[in-house]
This record gives sequence, C-alpha cells and structure tokens, in this order.
Amino acid sequence: MYLVARILDGKKVAESIHQELRERLIRLKERGVSLKLTVVLVGDNPASASYVRGKQRTAEKIGLEGEILRLPADVSQEVLLAEVDRLNADDSVDGILVQLPLPTHIAEQEVLERISPEKDVDGFHPMNAGRNFVGLDAVWPCTPAGIVNMLHREGIEIEGKHAVVVGRSNIVGKPMALLLLKENATVTVCHSRTKNLSDITRLADILVVAVGQPNVVTQGDVKPGAVVIDVGMNRVDGKLVGDVDFAGVSEVASAITPVPGGVGPLTVATLMQNTVALGLARRGIKEE
Ligand code: NDP
Repeated sequence: MYLVARILDGKKVAESIHQELRERLIRLKERGVSLKLTVVLVGDNPASASYVRGKQRTAEKIGLEGEILRLPADVSQEVLLAEVDRLNADDSVDGILVQLPLPTHIAEQEVLERISPEKDVDGFHPMNAGRNFVGLDAVWPCTPAGIVNMLHREGIEIEGKHAVVVGRSNIVGKPMALLLLKENATVTVCHSRTKNLSDITRLADILVVAVGQPNVVTQGDVKPGAVVIDVGMNRVDGKLVGDVDFAGVSEVASAITPVPGGVGPLTVATLMQNTVALGLARRGIKEE
C-alpha cells in the first residue's frame, strides 16, 4: 500500500527557531548585549554570494548584527589568514564563518583551523569536531544539527531506529552519523565505494542523503514508512533539486524533506543558534 508522505517543512521549523531567537535577542539587547556574525566571502561565486546574503539577511531579521567581509578571488593565503586573525581578536565579533568552497589556491583546512574554536559557528574546527567525537560539549555543524532539531520538533523518534546516512563528508555525512549515534540510533554510513547501496538504504527507518547527485535515491531504494531527509542541492536546468526523487519517494516514505524548503533553511537557522550560543559562552553571559 502506498502512503503519501508528510512533508517536513524546513522553512516553517526554521521560522519558529528564528522567532525564539528573536525573543531571546530582544531580552539580551535590553541588557545591553548585542551579538555579531561575520561571514567571509572570497570571490564572487554566485551561489556562495547568494548563500552569504541569505545568512546576513536572516541574522539581521532576528536581531543579530550580520556583517559580510568581501575579499577578492585572488586574495593570498596570508591576507586571508590575517583577516581571520583580526576577526578572532575583535571582541565585537561572536561568530566567524568562511563561506566554502574557497578558490583552489587557498589551503581551505588551514583557514578553517585558524578560526578561533570559540567563534567557529560552522563547527568545522578540529577542536570542536574532536570534542563532539568524544562526547564533550561543542557546537555541531549546522546541517546535521538542524536535521536532528527538526526530527525532534516534528515528533519523529530517533532512539533505536536504524539510520542510514549516504555521504561521509566532514560537513554533513560524518557529523550526521555521529549525531544520530548520540541520539541512540543504530547508524550505517554509505559512500561512493559502498556496494549494493540500495540493499542498505532499504533497511533505513531514517534515511539521510547527502551526496550531491540528483536521483541517487529513488522509490525502490526506500523502505515503506521510512523518514527521508534530502540534504542534496543540485542545479538541473536552472532548477534546484535534491538527491532524492521526491515524487517517487513521497509515495512510499512516511515523511520527507522537500528541496528547496527542507534542510537548507534549517542549516541557516542552526547557524544563528550557534552564533548566539557561542557569543553568550565567550562573553560569559547567562540568560535570565
Ligand atoms: P561532498 O562532495 O563533500 O560529499 C559527498 C559524499 O557523497 C561523499 O562522501 C561521497 O563518497 C558520497 N558519494 C558520492 N557519490 C556517491 C554515490 N553514487 N553513492 C553513494 N555515495 C556517494 O558533499 P557535501 O557532503 O558537502 O554535500 C552533499 C550535498 O549536500 C551537496 O549537494 C551539497 O550542496 C549539499 N549540502 C546542502 C546543505 C544544505 O544546507 N541543504 C549544506 C551542505 C551541503 P566518497 O567519500 O567515497 O567520495
């Protein structure tokens, strides 16, 4: 029997997170506290520029100061690192995000490691990744954290479920697997060398797909009743699509995220939460 999947509306969940943050930031402003997120944009890649503008707009909408630091595409490694040092030392800056990808002449990992872990709103610094790995308190990367937050808010149980994550990047797949493990799921991670991918995805109660290729997962790859989270963002004929065949999979899944309007807005909302959390921790401010 076919089901019609519940659409997990990431935009709506993100809006409720924004509203909560807005109220907290109003109360903090009344106490004279104002927090700032600085996003570093290198070059003029149109997709990156649009993501960065979206992040700034959301920051301003909820009452954070949102700053964009634009650097030319041919900026040297030294100048970029010096700018990160300057932001690290600037007491008014609570969160630093360097928009990826960086131009190929830049050593990306060195830049990410230069961001102070106290201001690392993306959660990509090895210090934060390592703390998460051993179960200490740290910010989580925004996309996986946003997904778990949405599952909680939508009343979808994780504990004891078999979660299959397709993709093992440091940004999405790996922290997603770790976070689902922390939530007491039984976790399987798949990647480009996985054999018989479909046999494994069909075992998933919760299936997270973060590959970057359209239609990696189609109807036959999904167990009836599974919850399907599509992280992928692909441009096909000028249209944004995910990694999952939405129409086909909606007929068997119990719940599914659309693209756009699913995981993307949650990633941005979590970035705002991370900025507030890190800002308050670094300034030693407790909320009333
Ligand atoms: P990466 O390219 O870093 O990682 C892709 C992963 O998919 C790799 O682990 C790769 O395996 C695996 N893979 C590639 N081909 C296959 C295949 N045929 N079958 C199974 N696994 C495969 O991408 P990201 O993790 O950074 O991003 C993934 C997608 O999510 C992209 O479309 C990106 O744009 C999107 N994204 C969306 C965000 C949002 O907010 N909505 C945020 C971040 C990313 P291997 O390791 O073996 O190479």
